[in-house]
Amino acid sequence: TFVYINDEFVDESEGKVSYTDRGYNFGDGIYEYIRIYDGNAFTAKEHFERLFRSAKEIGLNLEDYTVKSLTELIEELAEKNNVKNGGVYIQVTRGVAPRNHPFPEASTKPVFSAFSKSYERPYDELENGIKAITVDDIRWLRCDIKSLNLLGNVLAKEKATQSDAGEAIMHRDGIVTEGSSSNVFAVKDSKIYTHPANNLILNGITRRVINEIANELNIPFVEEPFDVEFLKSADEVIVSSTSIEVMPVIQVDDTFISNGTVGKITKELQKSFNNYIESNIEK
Ligand code: PMP
Repeated sequence: TFVYINDEFVDESEGKVSYTDRGYNFGDGIYEYIRIYDGNAFTAKEHFERLFRSAKEIGLNLEDYTVKSLTELIEELAEKNNVKNGGVYIQVTRGVAPRNHPFPEASTKPVFSAFSKSYERPYDELENGIKAITVDDIRWLRCDIKSLNLLGNVLAKEKATQSDAGEAIMHRDGIVTEGSSSNVFAVKDSKIYTHPANNLILNGITRRVINEIANELNIPFVEEPFDVEFLKSADEVIVSSTSIEVMPVIQVDDTFISNGTVGKITKELQKSFNNYIESNIEK
């Protein structure tokens, strides 16, 4: 299995980074996760544009890369590893330098790494839905940056796992923000509600596809804050991400959503999402 690290493809046994890498010491870096469907990178442009935005927001220099070079890179990695369906994870840190909080010397090169994995889509859960719990959102106030600092997300997801739930839905003082690794939607009276794409959430690429699909289906897409009570009284609840796609949530804490079944709008969105994937596969 190949990994890509510092400008070359190497065997994973050689994929090593320094103990003074700023990603390792400070979580000082950014990442993306891109889905591979049938050998094609899905919505790669959107993911890499978001990577460049994250880089800009934290003052990380990514001038050695372009959307095109990165797309070619991940497709090459997937091909080398024979990944037909799966994903590629990439991260960029502010580089290796003596441990000191301020930015290192300008000549310090960012450390870029990428690995791929193969897996099938989560068909069973997409059909039957998952359970979620609600937890306090204890994260910082720049959740729009896809940063390597994921401790708040990790602690939230661990709570979900301990509760036999598939996702932790976070809220700030009762206002639902997003999942520990997903965006959150409540369907009520045939409208889709989701938190506005501001500093409190990551503007998910899957969220944007859902927005586009909803527009095509003439389903109102309402970007307004809502609280946990609204979520629990919703007709349908969905979480979305690159890896879980349009995922139905049939239970939030002790409350069953739509009597524990997958709702009509969720199914419509899933169908359109499948078509969207199909139309983005070349050949
Ligand atoms: N929010 C958070 C906190 C996430 O980690 C993710 C997954 N990367 C998302 C939302 C969904 O983003 P995307 O659809 O781009 O995968």
